[in-house]
Amino acid sequence: DLPAHSHNAVSPESVLKDVFGYGEFRDGQGEVIHHVCQGGDALVLLPTGGGKSLCYQIPALVREGTAIVVSPLISLMQDQVEQLKALGVKADYLNSTLDAEAQANINDSLITGKLDLLYVSPERLMQYAFQQLLGRASIALFAIDEAHCVSHWGHDFRQDYRALGKIKSRFSHIPVIGLTATADTATQADILTQLNLNAPLVYKGSFDRPNIRYRVMSKYKAFDQVVSYVKQQEGSGIIYCNSRAKVDDLHNKLFRLGFRCAAYHAGMDSDERELVQRQFLNDKIDIVVATVAFGMGINKSNVRYVVHHDVPRSVESYYQETGRAGRDGLESEALLLFDEKDAARVKQWIEQGESGDRNHIELQKFAAMEAFSEAQTCRRQVLLNYFSQFSDSACGNCDICLDPPKMIDGLVIAQKVLSCILRLSQQASSQYIIDVLRGKQLKKLQEAGHHKLSTYGIGKDKSDSYWHNILNQLVHKGLIRVDITAYAALRLTEAARPVLKGEVPVQLAVPRLEFKPDKKTKQA
Ligand code: ADP
Ligand code: ZN
Repeated sequence: DLPAHSHNAVSPESVLKDVFGYGEFRDGQGEVIHHVCQGGDALVLLPTGGGKSLCYQIPALVREGTAIVVSPLISLMQDQVEQLKALGVKADYLNSTLDAEAQANINDSLITGKLDLLYVSPERLMQYAFQQLLGRASIALFAIDEAHCVSHWGHDFRQDYRALGKIKSRFSHIPVIGLTATADTATQADILTQLNLNAPLVYKGSFDRPNIRYRVMSKYKAFDQVVSYVKQQEGSGIIYCNSRAKVDDLHNKLFRLGFRCAAYHAGMDSDERELVQRQFLNDKIDIVVATVAFGMGINKSNVRYVVHHDVPRSVESYYQETGRAGRDGLESEALLLFDEKDAARVKQWIEQGESGDRNHIELQKFAAMEAFSEAQTCRRQVLLNYFSQFSDSACGNCDICLDPPKMIDGLVIAQKVLSCILRLSQQASSQYIIDVLRGKQLKKLQEAGHHKLSTYGIGKDKSDSYWHNILNQLVHKGLIRVDITAYAALRLTEAARPVLKGEVPVQLAVPRLEFKPDKKTKQA
């Protein structure tokens, strides 16, 4: 019996066809696979379902030796290995669920060259004993799945991933390929640095998921809103809440109303959680009410909707969570219930968080999420722009495109805000500006003498959320810029000058702060 990887010089194209049964590479795969087969490093940014796995699985079969695949989740490893074995690929995984004997057998297969792919956890990879073993094995490549976990700038930083940068110094001429479905520009650059990639090929695919319809609603009676929403839906859905208590509460309520649903969070034991996953996968239940613990690695293609009962902490998380809808390419929906007060609470948690310099990063990430929620322009454009995929046409498949906001002459409103910013010497943050506009009786305003400004109280007639919405619109219009190097102080841009002078018109959308059930979005 020949060692797994002694088949002579097979081409990526023949492996694609003969092993995986596919006729053609998808977007980016061919480029990345050829590069890695030739020994190059790569970073692959493709959305969920984009076909990242083949980017390392094919080079694993083409190159001499065993591919070491680092993956953060045990269930994910098991799924992948089962699928590969079914295709006749010699794959296995090493993790703490295996007993000592099974682990010893796999170690043995590794050094005798009997494996094409070996999936391991990041902790395992960094263990001294395992590194010794790797030194004796023939390695085809290292693949780092969920590579954003290596970055502090990512939304899911993991301590275990931190040490992965050492791979490249230890095994300098073995290719390393990082893969992720979510990385904004800062995270992307940081992954390259953290992993020490050498002249990497960076492939970034389109992040658009055209079959997902994005909707944002103001949240005012969340439970009623969720119930009336899910009643209108057919098929499977996920409802995300930001705490275990809320998950249990909402699940109980839905359950009592007769929905086929289950709760899922990290406080449940692993058997229970697995059961929920399986029932959901097999359509035995329709709805999973969950914390963010649910999802990574769940390969269910026919999820029709994802509801965010609470605002996520970053656009990346939002994108990843909503991305679990519609993997089969059929019409799906992502609904976010947004509440200013939730947002304020999240900001407070982040500010009081104990992660030191990370607090600042997280605040910035959350600010982008908040801006998305309040945007009055096409949601998809805002979302894709966040991932630097600029597009100048509206999508036609989001709430804003389908039900455009009412536009009004906003010159006077804009002037109120802009002059207030100016009076505060462009040093104040948005909440401070709103406090002044609304003429709040606050000690800090009085101590600074800001209750004497001519703009104090000129926006009394409107709420905080109204003004937040207006401020965000002015940011989106490029009249104001948020200076993140100065405690998020709002500054005027050049474009603000003619507005202050009343030389140009300003169109603003009437902020939609009321919940309106929307007939158009009923699933066909
Ligand atoms: P990701 O890891 O990016 O979420 P996967 O690697 O799981 O995506 O791929 C998603 C699905 O697409 C899988 O079912 C996979 O078999 C399929 N797929 C990947 N590449 C191709 C291809 N070139 N042709 C056809 N199907 C493909
Ligand atoms: Zn749109």
